[in-house]
Formats: sequence, C-alpha cells, structure tokens
Amino acid sequence: MPDIVILNGRVITFDGPDAEALAIEDGMITAVGSTADIRDMAGTARVIDAQGGTVLPGFIDSHVHLFGGSAELDFLNLHGLKGAQQLAAALRPYAAERPDDTLLFACSIDYALMGDRPITRHDLDAAIPDRPFAASTADHHTVYANTRALEMAGLMHGADCGVGSEVVMGADGLATGELLEPAAFEPILKMTTFGGRDMLGMLTGADPVPAPDRQTRAIDKAAIAKGFQHCARHGITGLHNMDGNFYQLELLSEMEAEGTLLCRTEIPMHLKHTDPVERIDEAAEMRARYTGDMVWSNRVKMFQDGVLDSRTAYMLEPYPGTDSRSEPLFSDAQFKQACIRADAMGLQIAVHAIGDAAVRQTLDGYEAAQKANGARDSRHRIEHVETIHPDDIPRFKQLGVVASMQPLHSPRGGFFPPYEPNDLLHPHQFKTAFPWRTIRDTGAALVFSTDWPVVPVDVMPSIQGAVAGIELPDYWPDQRLTLRDALAAYTRDNAWVEFNEDRKGRLRPGMMADVVVMGSDLDAMPPDQLGNAMPAVTICAGRITFET
Ligand SMILES: [Zn+2]
Repeated sequence: MPDIVILNGRVITFDGPDAEALAIEDGMITAVGSTADIRDMAGTARVIDAQGGTVLPGFIDSHVHLFGGSAELDFLNLHGLKGAQQLAAALRPYAAERPDDTLLFACSIDYALMGDRPITRHDLDAAIPDRPFAASTADHHTVYANTRALEMAGLMHGADCGVGSEVVMGADGLATGELLEPAAFEPILKMTTFGGRDMLGMLTGADPVPAPDRQTRAIDKAAIAKGFQHCARHGITGLHNMDGNFYQLELLSEMEAEGTLLCRTEIPMHLKHTDPVERIDEAAEMRARYTGDMVWSNRVKMFQDGVLDSRTAYMLEPYPGTDSRSEPLFSDAQFKQACIRADAMGLQIAVHAIGDAAVRQTLDGYEAAQKANGARDSRHRIEHVETIHPDDIPRFKQLGVVASMQPLHSPRGGFFPPYEPNDLLHPHQFKTAFPWRTIRDTGAALVFSTDWPVVPVDVMPSIQGAVAGIELPDYWPDQRLTLRDALAAYTRDNAWVEFNEDRKGRLRPGMMADVVVMGSDLDAMPPDQLGNAMPAVTICAGRITFET
C-alpha cells in the first residue's frame, strides 16, 4: 500500500512519455501512470493533488557551499546596493540588531559599489567607523574590511599569504581594505559569528582546530538546518557540496540521526595547491567512512584559479589593457600528479576553472590521468568554464569531462551586470563565454547548479536564466536551452554525474522517492516568467520536506 500518491500532475518522468500520477511507498516510487490507475491503488495513502502542476524528480543542485550558504541566510546581504549612502543605510539597523557581534559581517558586496574605483577601508569606515566590519563579494574571492576590522585581524601592515592571495597595500604603506583570495581574508573570517567554520572547508579544506565543543556544534547544526529548510522550499532534494572536511560530514551524519537532514548531500575532500598530493588519501578515508544514501563522499575538489572580476582567473592572454594573465594555483606538474593519483583511486575530480588557461590546464590534467590509468567512466568535472579557447571545446566530449555550469553566473542570467568588450574580456573571447549550449552540442555532458551562496540557491531563476535569459548586445552569444533540457540538467543529469542514474533523477518504479510538485505547469509558462514558479510540495526519500 502506498504512503503517498500524487495525482493530476504533468509528470515529467525523464524516462519515456510524461505521466499524470505516481505512488510512493517506503521511500521508493512504486508506480507511475494515469490519475485513474494511481487513484485506484491509493487506499489510505496521503493524496497530493498536483492540480495540473509539473511534477519532477527532486532538484539536485550540483555545486553548492551548504555551510557557507546556510550561514549567509543570517548575514546582511548587500546584493544590488550601490554607493556609500546605500551601504550606510543598510548597515545602521543591522549593527543595531547585533550589538554583540565581534565583527559585523555582510555578504554579496558589489565589486562596483563605488563605481569604477576599488572599494577601500575608508569607504567602509564612512559607513561604519566605530565597529569592525567586513563584507565578502558574492563569489567569495574578495573580502573588503574597514580599518577597525583590519587592525583587529592584524592586517594593517600587510601579510605574506603565499601564491594567489594578497592583502592589497596602498601608497601609504597600509592595507587598502581589499583582501584577495582565501589566505588573505582568513583572519577576518575567524571573527564572524561562525568563527570561519562555515568557510573552512571552502577555503582551506581543513577541519576546525580545536574540535568544536557540543555547544558550538549545536550552533552550526542549527544554521545548516535552516539552510536545508531553505533548499527544501525550493524543491531541492540533493546537494553536491563543493567544499568539505570531516567536520561537515560529522555534523550532517548527526543531523541525519536527529531528523533535520532534508536533502541528500555529498561532501568532497578539498585539496589545496599548498597541500602535498598524498593528502588525497584522506578522500579515500572519507569515502570509506561515509557511504549512506543521505550523506556520502566520493570526490576531490580543487581550485585552479580565481575569478574574472578581480582578474585572478588564469587566462591564455593578458587581460585587456594589462600585461597580466594571472597565474594558476596548481603548477602543471603538481596538478597532473594530483589528477593521476585521485583518478587511480577511483575518485571523481571536480576542479574550479574560470579562465581559459585554467580550463585548458584542467583538461590537460584529466588527459594525463587517462593516459596514466587508462580510460574509465570517471565523470570528472570542470566547474564554471566561464571562458574557453575554441580548440578546447571538443575535448570535453573526447575525454568524457562534464561541464558543470551556473546559468546565473552568466550576465545572460540577469543576476550579475554584463561587462563590455575590453574590460574583462577581449572582443573575440565573448564568442565562447559561458558556453553551456556550445559544449552540450558537442555531445558532452552538462549539469546545472547555483554555486550557492554566490547566487541564491533558488532553482527556477536559474532555469529561467538558461531558457530565456535577458536581452544583451549581440557580442554575448545566445546559449538558450529548451525548458526540458534545462530541467534535465538540474535533475536527471545531476543524478548521473553523482553515479546515481539508476537510483534517482527519473520518475519510474524502483527509483528513490525524491520528487518535487510545482505549483504551476512549467510548460505553459512564458519562459521569462519561469523564475516565479515555486514548488508546492517537496519530497525527499519519501518524506515531505516542504509543503505550502
Ligand atoms: Zn563554488
């Protein structure tokens, strides 16, 4: 007898034709068919009337930072604010609300808050002079801090942070307030309400030291629980975290036992360029220890470069008007060694690569692994791929590499402002910027995600960004996908990329009961309105995790 039946839907099965209804029993889908057939078997089951709304496999966001995203639900969000006045106005009530915070922390500060010139500590001092304050950009690759915060963190006179990170210094010999990349801003994050634990896995991959006590763990779990509720509200039943350490795996396992884990979550091991490659053995330890359907580990995450906005993405030619093309975090030899070792252990690899040179170096590393270990169904991933040299486009299909992309990272998505030729990119580089359809058209696999909290974890605005996009000058290529293809890249294909295509991502008997019932018929909506569609019910492992 089913526990739950869903009737009167437009059920997109990704497994043959659409259906109208389905039945769930013991966390599994047991039947898919017409409303009449499924109603006949309903018995005492809970009946969900989809009222013509689209029913889909639960969304899987294949690139998130769960702890960071959850923590940020609590921090002031500065997205869309411009100029000193707007900043000060937003900060005043926030500061009043939080008299006890050692450091006032905000997120999603606009790189262009002050127009064309970089933000300085003096700008932030003008908004809030009397308390330590810092804000991270949406991409988490830059933090700006005011004078009080820099003094408290001991950064006023600079710091040696190694390759790729920088405390930017002014002509006066003091820090300007701009902190580039993790090693530069770690001392600031240590002063937030989460002590930087929310970002540790993201920045250093390390576990917090000393190990957090019970009370601290409870604070962290409460934050993550809110994050899960937020994800469930957006129809999400699965997450691929892009940062990780044993601490996060422990917290999530405790939450599973406590009943607060609302999305299945995969946690990787984060290998830094400053780590010995032997550290990859920790990934095997994580994989061996965490093997559940709800919490598991099977992947190594690396960063190859930074981001375009701060010109830290590693490019094949210098940025317009400069002689800098930035530099890779991993040397070529070290990266190949890491790929060969991880691949030989049967681990999946996911690498952040935004610049075209970083994308090439990553493909070269995957190719080296294939040569050394033989070809296998590895499903190695490249995260972001915001620029690519045309010669490298066919290599995704050739090497079996997955393009893992974020529709809202492209200015086409309408979330971040577009840039003009010769600012961050040369005119000829636009043709292959954010090339999700171009790569997919070669037959390579494409998966979608948000990189939450870089952009909101909300699924449907990302779908709208991929399907409709906003009007932009013609030098931005048209990369629009059909609705069904975009939805597949968020469900079926995200299940495939985690090696779970036989267990989820499609609606058919025998699959895990991860299902989202949308409040509307997506096929009938104008593409530029899709972002407004919201789930009515979310079901993960046969349990209702959200309903309106
Ligand atoms: Zn990320």
